[in-house]
Amino acid sequence: MYVDASNIKISPISKSKIDAIDFDHIPFGRVFTDHFFLAHYRNGQWEDMTISPLENFSLHPSNLALHYGQSVFEGMKASADKNGTPLLFRPEEHAKRLNRSAKRLCMPEFPEKIFLEALTELVDLDRKWIPNRPGSALYIRPLMFATDEFLGVAPSETYTFVIMLLPVGPYYSKPVKLWADTEYVRAVAGGTGEAKTAGNYAASLLPSKLAKEKGCDQILWLDGKERKYVQEVGTMNIFFVFEDHIATPELDGAILSGITRDSFLTLLKEKGYEVQTRKITIDEVMEKGRNGQLKEVFGSGTAAVATIVEEIRYKDAVIKFDPEAAEVGPMLKQTIEDIRHGRQEDTHHWVMRVE
Ligand code: PMP
Repeated sequence: MYVDASNIKISPISKSKIDAIDFDHIPFGRVFTDHFFLAHYRNGQWEDMTISPLENFSLHPSNLALHYGQSVFEGMKASADKNGTPLLFRPEEHAKRLNRSAKRLCMPEFPEKIFLEALTELVDLDRKWIPNRPGSALYIRPLMFATDEFLGVAPSETYTFVIMLLPVGPYYSKPVKLWADTEYVRAVAGGTGEAKTAGNYAASLLPSKLAKEKGCDQILWLDGKERKYVQEVGTMNIFFVFEDHIATPELDGAILSGITRDSFLTLLKEKGYEVQTRKITIDEVMEKGRNGQLKEVFGSGTAAVATIVEEIRYKDAVIKFDPEAAEVGPMLKQTIEDIRHGRQEDTHHWVMRVE
């Protein structure tokens, strides 16, 4: 055991589990690295910070997060450059979003500086787990949840913060079919849509299941008030390539502010595209899709970077896109992957190297 500069106690595992992993066939979300970061919030401060072999928790059945959903998380990635140096993609932005989510859920912030140090130490310790296959990455899941043993709707006084790491295989994202639903909504402005909190995802499960029964892959969420404006998709923001400009819904207080979305907006402007963040009605999408003024649609998110949309269904109407003809989404995906692996100059300082 040793202690790092931020007072994190580090106890490396005696025997790594890595030899048992088939890196050519890693099921997404099921394989975890050797270590995890753990911190506890008590008496108004974060303490007992450790990096140790990943193990189970023991929870009291009245754990507040289980009952009332006081839980927020993040999803980010590390990759390696050609020399094997781990590269983190925009970790400060993820730390900031985690803290914005925590604030909305009435939870304490986790200091950004300690977050970055913990992440760096953890990724450094488990650097062998970063898959070197093209398109593979180390997925990083920070999670903060309430731990008071108390039945009552009130903010917890104690919390646990963890960071776990998962090697993930090449995320081949096949083109998706979207169902624009008029019955269920994901979030409303003033609610928790901007926060990455457990309940948002729980609420999306039934509508997503119904969309699958209709032959679609995911829901294209419409706004909760008028069911008129397009918001986002599953775990992605959405972009529309119109004839003369590219548009993505503006952040309206209900949409998650995607870090890939933000990166795409920067890259598109830099490459000279006319880009708009604005209200986009589902009627505009369907009409321009029908008359050929909407050329391409894609989703943006950490997992698949860019996912091509091949079909959108709304009420009785269907519009289709030829995935082979998509240009902008694949170009952005390639650019982000190149930056993430150190193959392209990181002019925006998006990458943090773990030396
Ligand atoms: N919307 C939702 C609801 C999501 O869960 C995600 C994934 N975090 C996104 C959008 C995309 O965000 P990012 O680009 O930061 O992964």
